[in-house]
Amino acid sequence: MFSKERFIESINRIIKSDYGKTLDEATEYEKYNVISKAIMEMIIDNWSKTEEEYSKVKRAYYLSAEYLMGRALGNNLLNLGFYDEVKEVLGQLNIDLNKIEEVEEDAGLGNGGLGRLAACFLDSSATMNIPLTGYGIRYRYGIFKQKFENGFQVEEADNWLKYGDPWSIRRDEDSVIVEFADGKVKAVPYDTPILGFKTKNINKLRLWQAEPIKEFDFKLFNEQEYDEAVKEKNRAEDISRVLYPNDSKREGKILRLKQQYFFVSASLQDLISKFKRKFGNKFDLFPKYHAIQLNDTHPVVAIPELMRILVDEEGIEWERAWEITVNTFAYTNHTILSEALEKWDVRLYKEILPRIFEIIEDIDIRFIIELKEKGYSISKLKKMRIISDNMIHMAWLAIHGTHTTNGVAELHTNILKHQELKDWYELYPERFQNKTNGITPRRWIALCNKELTELISELLGTKDWIRDLSRLKELEKYKDDENILNRFMQIKENKKKELAEYIRKVEDIQINPNSIFDIQIKRLHEYKRQLLNAFHILDLYFRLKENPNMDIVPRTFIFGAKAAPGYYRAKGIIKYINEIAKLINNDPEVNDKIKVVFVQNYRVSYAEKLFPAADVSEQISTAGKEASGTGNMKFMLNGTPTLGTYDGANVEIVAEAGSENNFIFGARVEEIERIKDTYDPKEYYEKVPGLKRVVDTLIDGTFDDGGTGMFEELYNSLLKGASWHKPDNYFLLRDFDDYRKAQQEIDKAYRDRLSWAKKCWINMANSGKFSSDRTILDYAREIWDVKPVVIK
Ligand SMILES: *Cc1c(COP(=O)(O)O)cnc(C)c1O
Repeated sequence: MFSKERFIESINRIIKSDYGKTLDEATEYEKYNVISKAIMEMIIDNWSKTEEEYSKVKRAYYLSAEYLMGRALGNNLLNLGFYDEVKEVLGQLNIDLNKIEEVEEDAGLGNGGLGRLAACFLDSSATMNIPLTGYGIRYRYGIFKQKFENGFQVEEADNWLKYGDPWSIRRDEDSVIVEFADGKVKAVPYDTPILGFKTKNINKLRLWQAEPIKEFDFKLFNEQEYDEAVKEKNRAEDISRVLYPNDSKREGKILRLKQQYFFVSASLQDLISKFKRKFGNKFDLFPKYHAIQLNDTHPVVAIPELMRILVDEEGIEWERAWEITVNTFAYTNHTILSEALEKWDVRLYKEILPRIFEIIEDIDIRFIIELKEKGYSISKLKKMRIISDNMIHMAWLAIHGTHTTNGVAELHTNILKHQELKDWYELYPERFQNKTNGITPRRWIALCNKELTELISELLGTKDWIRDLSRLKELEKYKDDENILNRFMQIKENKKKELAEYIRKVEDIQINPNSIFDIQIKRLHEYKRQLLNAFHILDLYFRLKENPNMDIVPRTFIFGAKAAPGYYRAKGIIKYINEIAKLINNDPEVNDKIKVVFVQNYRVSYAEKLFPAADVSEQISTAGKEASGTGNMKFMLNGTPTLGTYDGANVEIVAEAGSENNFIFGARVEEIERIKDTYDPKEYYEKVPGLKRVVDTLIDGTFDDGGTGMFEELYNSLLKGASWHKPDNYFLLRDFDDYRKAQQEIDKAYRDRLSWAKKCWINMANSGKFSSDRTILDYAREIWDVKPVVIK
């Protein structure tokens, strides 16, 4: 229960002890810190109690190199059920909770969907009372902050800890040593509580920080060799210094390998030492108490590391150790993009992790013997073996060394089973499962869209749907209720006004809240095809210039995306869209009809303002390339129809909400497969009306890329190809005309306000499947065999 008196007492006490101030004297940041710490005090007992109860049962562990958490304060208040009470008390103290929330830096320890999925899973596991602990890295600098200068992306360091981190507790007593061939480092855990919604269960995110074993060499320091004295310290701290800002492209750096082994080894040592205290050397029990999920291949070195611990340190024979290992781990595949499949140069492993490499060699040799006995041909063996061409194939190691491999949407899992991992599916058919991704309804509606949340709670007569999203289905009966639909659209209008105001404030651009908000927000990648969206906008602009009286519903095209700093084309696309925005936004002839905004520094907290305000959800990846997507689900939950290809979870969104309520276009996987070898984008370029005109703006001087050659390079990627790919390998020109037609359908459909509202409503009412509560319960039942534990 929330006690107003205790809360105020805590705040006044902590502000004094931490800052030597009174509340009136405190800065916004100090207020944020103090309020957060007061909440930490309130939850600490339930946190300990949860740990105690969980220690008796089988638990799941999520190993992930990324957690894209966003802000904690508002979410924790919501989950505690204290949000309104705290807002009121603070109001009486002349503190505006919304303002304090805005002060908090995002915990941006992830790149995009994969890291955000990990964050949603933590929230759902706590809410569903599933004993799940997250393990990862406490990066000193998270995903870079993005600014635009002259339309170009500029990156800045994300110093997210500059004012401290009130939500974590350092646990020195649980520190462990991690060994590399070139030295040892200390791994120090920081624990963050993960609060469930309306439950006493509090789960844990344990992030490891790398530190030197010796703070600094005092002797060298004394001899005034300062640089030498801090060298060891820096070398150790480098390991957890920065998040690699690459999304889906593999990053083959020594430091990256060290990061992976660092957090995996620390996490396994942590588990093994606790296990031994309880069960001694009865290691056959290990899989009965631990289910470890490997989030993509980044933590797959856990497989040989557990083997090393069991065989080398605990003296267990290989076969028994292997059985324990396979029964402990499961692996989630997140992508089929070949450039994202992680492979490591054998030399790197030999240099940094020699013993781990030997173990991988042993695994490989035994695997080959197994396959030979099964009668596999030499050519197939070569394709499947873990080490080939001096590279270690982490995905192969992952499938072979785990009991379950899962894809993240039906379509994706089917592509894995029947195309990309066909050989593996034939070898281990019983190991493959699908777990369609999900999103937490707490952050993605209850927190970011309180108005819609209230309407739904009123209609259902309860707030229970926030932890049982399938109940939204009961709302479908209002789909023709004008009164309800009007209230629903009024909420959307208000959220659009709020977003417009925010964009005016932070981007200094005026947009019309009565226009259609057409939004594409996600990492910048060629396969996600922001460039296709840009071509359509430009085509619309040219048609408007030719025909100023053309009747269209006013539209605001909104983009948000970070490009990996070394991804040249992605950065070119950002510059190109910013050039289009400049042209269009400065042309008074079209400004009452279209505008283009590329928001800076798209991140979780910005996302929370964008999703509730959207009219159109752009999900236009090349069919077969987006494993699932989760942004698509956030739009749907907030009542936004999808304009998308038949890809990833879009397929399931349409199956749930109906194709008549969404706008599906473009080549499907089967067509892409059929045409990929003979596809000639020139045919479309020449024949599709208006297409040449827009594509040529990349080279005809319409836009200025600052002399970088970026735009010409984009042009060439579409029409000439490159050493590593054919022309237009993401089929933009193939899909352009279909996309334009779908956009015209949207323009038409939007005009009938009520029937548009009905589409939005039906989407929202059918989004129940996409709760990460459902996903996490499926993992718990079908992969981990872990059961809920309710803390009383
Ligand atoms: C949900 C989310 C993503 C993933 O978006 P997709 O459209 O699924 O790629 C990326 N970044 C942030 C900040 C998110 O909230």
